[in-house]
Amino acid sequence: MKTQTQAPIQILHSASRRRVFMLQTLVGCAATGTALQATAQTMVAEGDAQATALGYKADATKVDKAKQPKYAAGQVCSTCTLFQGAASAAAGGCPLFAGKQVFGKGWCSAWAKKG
Ligand code: SF4
Repeated sequence: MKTQTQAPIQILHSASRRRVFMLQTLVGCAATGTALQATAQTMVAEGDAQATALGYKADATKVDKAKQPKYAAGQVCSTCTLFQGAASAAAGGCPLFAGKQVFGKGWCSAWAKKG
């Protein structure tokens, strides 16, 4: 049975537990965000030397067909045999650009149809 003095103590205790939970949640979110930033890889820039040499474009529809006669509409990184992400992934790795990611809708002159 509760006495009149126990109820306010329980309310304070409950409020304190809520504050601790909220703080733990905030700390957890901050830690998760930091971890995601640490694992996120840099995207290949079209201006990188290797990208320029291979005619890489972040958006395959922007490929200059006059300069890249091998390009055919519909070819994108996500359908390339070297793409290291899921077919539906927005970005993934490519061994030609070690340590970086290419866009799934990107393209370069080394494109080869995924078998
Ligand atoms: S080799 Fe394939 S996956 Fe890599 S950049 Fe070129 S088209 Fe994209």
